[in-house]
Amino acid sequence: MTLDETLALLEQIALVDDRVVKVDQAEQRAQVTMWAATLRDVPLDFAGEAVGRHYAESAWPIMPKDIAARWRDQVRDRLGRSTGTFEPTDHPHLDPDDVGGYMAALREQRGAIAGGSAEPVGLRELIPAVGDRLGGGRVAELVPANETFREVREQHYPRRARPAGPPELAVHCPVCGVSAGRPCKTTSRGRQMRGTHPSRRDVWEAQQTTEGADA
Ligand SMILES: [Zn+2]
Repeated sequence: MTLDETLALLEQIALVDDRVVKVDQAEQRAQVTMWAATLRDVPLDFAGEAVGRHYAESAWPIMPKDIAARWRDQVRDRLGRSTGTFEPTDHPHLDPDDVGGYMAALREQRGAIAGGSAEPVGLRELIPAVGDRLGGGRVAELVPANETFREVREQHYPRRARPAGPPELAVHCPVCGVSAGRPCKTTSRGRQMRGTHPSRRDVWEAQQTTEGADA
């Protein structure tokens, strides 16, 4: 998967789980780089499918290692199912006495099977049926999370980063300038306030509206 494909994948994931993609720009850049490095060998299609499978089985936010693990399993599984023989008709140019050529073709085939560009021998016949059952290879369609989903998820898996207190603590305060998670300070003496500046609430509310419109 390229960097662009990783970005596309993260965009897709953000639609179903708003806990995964970092909000802070610097963090987001680091996240994309890390995901792209972890998923370098994984094709985008497979990663998309792995995300669907993950959320079909788990309520935890997906991590790149979850996708990489599914890819490793698939590679192992595919190589395990491969008999290591190949159809002579696939290699009409190959001389049966050419051991070097045979080994090279075998290696190439195993590489293709592991990478997903070739099907293990013996599995070929099953592919149309499997494809139909899964709806053209897609295991689960990604759909945006709705309100019910968010509520249920919040009950079972409250955000770790969520600060106690009024929800506007989640944003930085435009009045006293404290960062997200910190209590407001009086602008005159810098004393910690019990409540928050009203504008902070406005910022938070505006953000909720924007997020609602995006979803
Ligand atoms: Zn404030």
